[in-house]
This record gives sequence, C-alpha cells and structure tokens, in this order.
Amino acid sequence: MAVYHGPRCRQCRREGMKLMLKGERCKSERCAMERRPFPPGMRVSKRRRSATEYNQQLREKQKIRRMYGVLEKQFELYFEKSAKATGITGEILLQLLEMRLDNIVYRLGFASSRSCARQMVLHNHFTVNGKKVNISSYQLKAGDVVQVKDKSKTLEAIHNSLKALRDIPEWLTVDKVKLEGSVIRIPERAAIPVNVQEQLVVELYSR
Ligand code: SF4
Repeated sequence: MAVYHGPRCRQCRREGMKLMLKGERCKSERCAMERRPFPPGMRVSKRRRSATEYNQQLREKQKIRRMYGVLEKQFELYFEKSAKATGITGEILLQLLEMRLDNIVYRLGFASSRSCARQMVLHNHFTVNGKKVNISSYQLKAGDVVQVKDKSKTLEAIHNSLKALRDIPEWLTVDKVKLEGSVIRIPERAAIPVNVQEQLVVELYSR
C-alpha cells in the first residue's frame, strides 16, 4: 500500500477513535473527532454501519497501523516476527511497535506526534547509546538511552513538546534538563497505553 498523504484527521474519523496523529491539536477542541465524530462521507446518516467480523478485524489492524504510522508491508513484517516469537502474538506485536525509535521519541515527549518524531529522527536530532541513529523503525531494547544531540538541544519544537508533556509510561524515564530518556523495560500489554484489540489482528492474519 502506498504512503497515505491525505488528511490525517480523516483516518481518525474512519476508525472512530482519536489516533493522536497531529500533536497538540489532538488535545484541543479543534480535533475533528470532537467536531465530527462520524466517518467521512456520512453526511446524511451519522450512524456507523454494523461491522462484519472480518471488517472489525481489518479496521483494528488499520487503526494500529495508522496510529504507529507503519506501512502495510512493514506491518506484515512486524506481525510475522511477533508470530514467530515465543509469547502472546498480539502483545509482542505491540511491543515491537512501541520499541520503534520514533515511538519512543514521541513517548518521551521530545515530539508532539509520532510523525513529528519520525521527521526529527530522519533529520539526525537523536543518538541512541551515544551513536547517531536516523532510522525511525530502529528497535530499542531495555536499557537503551535516547539523547537529543547537542546541536539540536535548542530546537523549539522539542522544548514546546516537553512543556506540554504531562506524563510518560512508567517503563520510560526522561531527563528534561539533559534532554535524554531511557527505556527501563519492554512494557507488558497493560503498560502500553493504546486502546486497541490486537487479538483481532491476530485473528485477521490467521484466516
Ligand atoms: Fe485525530 Fe488528532 Fe485529527 Fe483529532 S486532531 S482527528 S486526534 S489527528
């Protein structure tokens, strides 16, 4: 599937939930899900159509994929990897997505959304364990330290985002003065703050 360049809010409206794709706007009343919480194109009837089992599974997959900003093929690879690993496939899938560098940059509060985080990573604003990493899908592990590079420490976007940061998951720590954060542990499912039913994705790929 090609990269989606259309309106991001449309994706939230399509999935019927806030996917938090636009940073601060998502927390404001300008959020499209606050103003038009029905699927795009449904001008007459604002009721959601009843979904078939397959449709529910598909929508759940799209929801997760869009939330983390992962392309179809990449998502399939994540699923294959999680299915081969020992443990609960759905949980491992979410853990792999959570451990992406762009997601961790977002969770640590250095970026207001995952897409901003991705841009920042691509533009070389971070190091991992002291080494330059500009791959947004780079997989972090417990104990890894993500740091804002010295040359990027004055970036307004990072400071604005940190100011708006309310809390971070307990499996991460952040030092807002040093502008660095670390992964304490790989989170178990209950500690991953996403409201999705990953089991439906497992069922979808098991068809
Ligand atoms: Fe989704 Fe954010 Fe747009 Fe709201 S503002 S619809 S949460 S992308």
